[in-house]
Amino acid sequence: MGLFDSFYDNIVCPYCQHEYEAEVQTKQLENMLAEFRKGDEVRFDLRGAIKNNYVVASGCLEGIDICPECKQTLCCKIHIHSGKFAGLEIDPRTFYMMS
Ligand SMILES: [Zn+2]
Repeated sequence: MGLFDSFYDNIVCPYCQHEYEAEVQTKQLENMLAEFRKGDEVRFDLRGAIKNNYVVASGCLEGIDICPECKQTLCCKIHIHSGKFAGLEIDPRTFYMMS
């Protein structure tokens, strides 16, 4: 349906070195157009539904963004630590496969 949830953090594009605030979108949660910034609580159950009663202590989601400078698709890991959004990281595996 084109819905997703968004995570915001500063990243550096591995293709052109452009640093910017990425909006990484993932469909691995409930796709309720929720927005998360560093430190925000991310609560969801094992099926990905965002609920108040569940917290994932730590884990990793995946999502994508498109660099506004060079237009490359960037695959990112979305790190969750102790139930809070801890930041984005470019997925080096995907970068290798796409380059
Ligand atoms: Zn770029």
